[in-house]
Amino acid sequence: MDFIDLKSQYLASRELINQRIQTVLDHGQYIMGPEVAELEGKLAAYTGARHCITVSSGTEALVIALMALGIKPGDEVITTPFSFIATAEAVVLLGATPVFVDVEARTCNLDARQIEAHVTPRTRAIIPVSLYGQPADMDAINEVAERHGLAVIEDAAQSFGATYRGRKSCNLSTVGCTSFFPSKPLGCYGDGGAIFTSDDELATAMREIRVHGQSRRYVHTRIGVGGRMDTLQCAVVLAKLERFEWEVEQRQRAAAYYDDLLAGHLDVVGCQPDRTSVYAQYTVLAPQRERLQEALHAAGIPTAVHYPVPIHQQPAYAHWSSPGSCPVASSLSHQVLSLPMGPYLDRQSAHQVADAVAAALAQFDGKAA
Ligand SMILES: *Cc1c(COP(=O)(O)O)cnc(C)c1O
Repeated sequence: MDFIDLKSQYLASRELINQRIQTVLDHGQYIMGPEVAELEGKLAAYTGARHCITVSSGTEALVIALMALGIKPGDEVITTPFSFIATAEAVVLLGATPVFVDVEARTCNLDARQIEAHVTPRTRAIIPVSLYGQPADMDAINEVAERHGLAVIEDAAQSFGATYRGRKSCNLSTVGCTSFFPSKPLGCYGDGGAIFTSDDELATAMREIRVHGQSRRYVHTRIGVGGRMDTLQCAVVLAKLERFEWEVEQRQRAAAYYDDLLAGHLDVVGCQPDRTSVYAQYTVLAPQRERLQEALHAAGIPTAVHYPVPIHQQPAYAHWSSPGSCPVASSLSHQVLSLPMGPYLDRQSAHQVADAVAAALAQFDGKAA
């Protein structure tokens, strides 16, 4: 069993993917070829945002968004410590200060109720993460942001295709950033990402920053980066987009199998009724995580931990937090365990995983008694 089965996905879309790649090889426009604008148009339409700007990775999407918002040294950006490192990394790369606010235990996402207490005159933006594929409570976060004149950047690297109160992830706030890293729900075959906004001025700024701050050829209106997404990677995403809706449904179907089979055995990171998840990860809370992980490994079932050390406790980031802060994130980091997940995970495999989980837990209980 694979943790994420990219091979079955490729085989299911093989002709389309090969064809799309061949087209790029034939026309030879490897940088900013026609597939780039085609993909941006389709992704913008999918999310409902007015603009989509493809970029070289999800990390670069965050950096470019923060640059376009004018985030600079001395500014504070409120974010979650329970995420992939890139979320806070983008903030510190611009010389700004990350302010870590704890998460909710039930969703593992930024706790909107705790944000306001951390707003200061230096606060400029909030970066919630739609962890494991499920958006945070974006209306509540946007409300705090509006009261204080802050921008909200959704780190939607794991949640492209998810919804919150009927609206699509990436189009839930000032800016949405996603990633096409191969193992994300909508992945390419290398690095790639995209930024979404309905703000025309921000969109222009982000388009220019993506290409060295260039407004016209060799006219550099602002400081930028080399942040374009390759035409070839855009072609791969275009091919995969054809089956994406179906794949999201299959992910949700696989999650429903797990929900059923694991009920009564373990707590899972649940999906709230007002949103949908694309299940970038299906994550359970395991009190004896290391033992469970070993038992599953022995049964041939790969698992992963997202994330074993929260960002506010990472060596390079700890000085931005005080000891004992963000206790919920710290506690979750010892319990979370992600199970194999993907659109091609069938009922039989879900059964195999759930049976192994149940057997391991029964054994722990037996030994403890
Ligand atoms: C993957 C990920 C990123 C970074 O995306 P890359 O494309 O790998 O740079 C940022 N934030 C979160 C939450 C992620 O999961």
